[in-house]
Amino acid sequence: MAVLPIVQVPDPVLRKKALPVERVTKRVQKLIRDMADTMYAANGAGLAAPQVGVSERVIVVDAGDGLVALINPRIIAAEGSEVDVEGCLSIPNVSVYVERAAKVEVEGWDERGRTVRIKADGLLARALQHEIDHLDGILITDKGSPIQRADEEAASGSQASTPGEKST
Ligand SMILES: [Zn+2]
Repeated sequence: MAVLPIVQVPDPVLRKKALPVERVTKRVQKLIRDMADTMYAANGAGLAAPQVGVSERVIVVDAGDGLVALINPRIIAAEGSEVDVEGCLSIPNVSVYVERAAKVEVEGWDERGRTVRIKADGLLARALQHEIDHLDGILITDKGSPIQRADEEAASGSQASTPGEKST
């Protein structure tokens, strides 16, 4: 198990367009394991490789139904739209209302290099779109204005975060 440091804004790696993975090697498989360990340790719902300082197209997501790891993920179909609150492990204490497709189909490789397609809705669809945005250097603060800061809420005596709300 290896929990990696999570890169935070304004680190420039978060703004780079991540490179495609050409081949699934042991190094890439270890990266996926370490990213999953890091996501769970941070109690997050997703993590993209640039968030651990690696500018490559690898994401992990767990929206409550188990780990999904994807290499070179891309959205091949999307429908509907929903607005909901998101946080980001790279932008502490910031929440933003973000409009996303309600349902997506994502294609990529699994950790063995096999092509997989995942149909998702709800939190999984949202987390996948959030992580794929990271691979293109896009952050939630590009999508809307921060609506609350946990430190300000704490200062005013209200609850510091929404129960169950997870950052990605
Ligand atoms: Zn994020």
